[in-house]
Amino acid sequence: MLNRRHFVVSVAGLAALAAAGGTAFAGSKGLIGISMPTKSSTRWISDGESMVKEFTALGYEADLQYGEDDIPNQLAQIENMVTKGAKVLIIAAIDGSTLSDILKKAKENGVKVIAYDRLITKTGDVDYYTTFDNFGVGVLQAKSLVQGLKERFPNVKPWNIELFGGSPDDTNAFYFYNGAMSVLKPMMDAGEISVVSGQMGMDKVGTLRWDGAVAQARMDNLLSANYTDKKVNGVLAPYDGLSRGIISSLKGVGYAPGPEMPVVTGQDAELASVKGMMAGEQYATVFKDTRELAKVTAKMVDTVLQGKEPEINDTKTYNNEVKVVPSFLLTPYAVGKGDIKKALVESGYYTQEQIDN
Ligand code: BGC
Repeated sequence: MLNRRHFVVSVAGLAALAAAGGTAFAGSKGLIGISMPTKSSTRWISDGESMVKEFTALGYEADLQYGEDDIPNQLAQIENMVTKGAKVLIIAAIDGSTLSDILKKAKENGVKVIAYDRLITKTGDVDYYTTFDNFGVGVLQAKSLVQGLKERFPNVKPWNIELFGGSPDDTNAFYFYNGAMSVLKPMMDAGEISVVSGQMGMDKVGTLRWDGAVAQARMDNLLSANYTDKKVNGVLAPYDGLSRGIISSLKGVGYAPGPEMPVVTGQDAELASVKGMMAGEQYATVFKDTRELAKVTAKMVDTVLQGKEPEINDTKTYNNEVKVVPSFLLTPYAVGKGDIKKALVESGYYTQEQIDN
C-alpha cells in the first residue's frame, strides 16, 4: 500500500516537472519529440528506429510517435510532446500545411522545430529542414525509366508511358514530379515518349496519401480506357508502395516479368520492392539512406541545443510560403537490379537473407 501511494505521488510529481519544462528528464540531455507519418511504409519505421538510436547514443530521451496518416492524430501527438517538455520536435508531416497552430504553441515554449524529409509549409515556426535532394530523386526516377525503355523496348517508337505522382499535400511530390518532367518533357516534345491517356500534371496524376490501392485503381482505369489495342511500355511511379499497386494492376491484365513487362520505377528501396526487382517485376527504385538522414538530423539537433549554428547546404530551394527554410540535403541513389548487392547489402541496409527469403 505504501509503495503504491509512493508510486502515485511520484508520477504526479513527474508530470508537474515535465509540464514545468522537462526537468523530469534529468539524467538525460532532454526530451526529443519525433513525429512520423505512418508505419504503413517501412521507410518511416527505419527512420524512427535510426533516430531513437542516434538520440539515445547522444544522451537524449526520444519520444517516437506515428500518426498513421490521420492528421488530427498527428497534431494531438505533437501537442502531447510539447506538454511533456520536448526541447525539439522532429516532424515528418502527413500534410505539411496543417501544423501552424501547434507549432506556434511550440515556439512560445521555446521548442526548436525540424522538418524531417517533408517540408512544413505555411508557418514561420520551423527552424530547419533535413531531407534528400528531392528534385534529384525525380530526375533519377525518369532517367531509370528511360534507361529501362531503351533496354527493353529498343525498337518501339514512341514509347507509351503513364505518369503517377505522390500525395498533393506533401511538397516532395511536386519536387519529384518536376524533377522527372525535366527529363521526360523534352522527350515528349521530341515525339520519343507518348503519355497515351494524356493525363499529365500533379492535379491529374497525384495520389492522395501515397496510397498503393488508389494507384492500383487508377492504373486499372488507365489500362481499360487506353490500352485495349496498345501496349504500355513504362510507368513513372514515385514511391515503391505505388509501384507495387501499379504492378498488381499490370499483372491483372496479363503482363508478366519478361520482355513485355512495362518498366516501373519507384522510391525508398522497400524490401517488398527489392524482392520485386529481383523477380523482374519492378525495374528500379531510388535508395535514400534513412540511417544517414537520422544521423544528420540528430547531429543538427545536438548542435542547435548547444546554441551553435548547424551545418546547412541549401538556403534557396525550400520556400514554405512564409520563408525559405535552411536545409541540409543528402544525396539519393538510383538502384536497379544489378545495384542491389552493392547499394543495399554491402551498405548493411538489408542482409542478403532478407532479400532472398
Ligand atoms: C518521401 C518518400 C516516400 C513518400 C511516401 C515522401 O515524402 O520523401 O521517401 O516514398 O513520402 O511515404
